[in-house]
Amino acid sequence: MRHLSTNRSAWISWCIGGLSFILPIVYCSKILSEESTALRPNELGSIMVLMYHDIRAPESTWVRTPENFSKDLSILFEKNYQPISLVDFISGNFNTDRGYTPFVLTFDDGTAGQFRVVEQNGMKIPDPQTAVGILENFGASHSSFQPKATFFVNGRNPFKEPTLVSYKMNYLLTHGMEIGNHTSKHQNLGSKEMASPQAIQSAIGSQAVYLESRLASFPEYRIRTLALCFGGRPKIPSLQKYLSRGIQKGTPYENIAVLNVGSSPAHSPFDKSFNPYSIPRIRASEINTAGTGLYDWVRYFDKHPDERFVSDGNADIVTIPELFKSRLNTERLSNQQVMTY
Ligand SMILES: [Zn+2]
Repeated sequence: MRHLSTNRSAWISWCIGGLSFILPIVYCSKILSEESTALRPNELGSIMVLMYHDIRAPESTWVRTPENFSKDLSILFEKNYQPISLVDFISGNFNTDRGYTPFVLTFDDGTAGQFRVVEQNGMKIPDPQTAVGILENFGASHSSFQPKATFFVNGRNPFKEPTLVSYKMNYLLTHGMEIGNHTSKHQNLGSKEMASPQAIQSAIGSQAVYLESRLASFPEYRIRTLALCFGGRPKIPSLQKYLSRGIQKGTPYENIAVLNVGSSPAHSPFDKSFNPYSIPRIRASEINTAGTGLYDWVRYFDKHPDERFVSDGNADIVTIPELFKSRLNTERLSNQQVMTY
């Protein structure tokens, strides 16, 4: 019996020892399988800069319904995309969670459907059927989704409620969003009429001055991003410098980014091919997209996840596959360390 008992003890002891050996393997392999299905960091991957215009019914080529805009946010969120601000994208300084892909939201033309105000219990709030309302409500119900966007506005009546222009512009900045330049009269800067230094500087500079004059709560804020109307860019090379810098009636302006119309994802800000003065945008539409709309690219990145920018979750480190190292533009690093694998 003693012998048997000893054997039994030995067996029990072996079992316990074996379990303690096997369990970590099971646990580790679970972690490994989760790691292998998650996207590995690649901060030289591409980033989608989405271009919206009006948000209202009915849907058309340049109009997205509130329901479809909400659907876009939901699908991007489910596929691990997180919005970042345009200025943060340009600077390469953003805090996207590890394993997530940043994207940028932009809205052109300052339409009523982007930001209308309604009253609720005596308080002004963004209409929940407008872009600002939808974005903020989505952010409120999804803790890892920050409602970041840039509104490129033209003319003197952004968002089409004249008495609320200053209120809305200050509201946007207070709530972490940005305002950009879309020229004073929606001019095509590639047209013959605009082919002079004076015309271009007037269209950009006067709009920047006007917009800044309406931002009483943000006296230091500078309008420093430009979205080209119709994608028009001066054809004469000597005029192109005025997109980024110029003087209008003695007041200088400076743009750190110039955005195009269409049609592909943008390079990573750390990529040698990244050009902040020619940022491509993707039409957030499902009509007449010619294979280059939002969902065409979402599907593309589903098939080619290695081409997505995937964050390492640390803004102080730029993590890239060794294979892509030659593409890294070290001049765009701001005290960030580089890690390769
Ligand atoms: Zn426009």
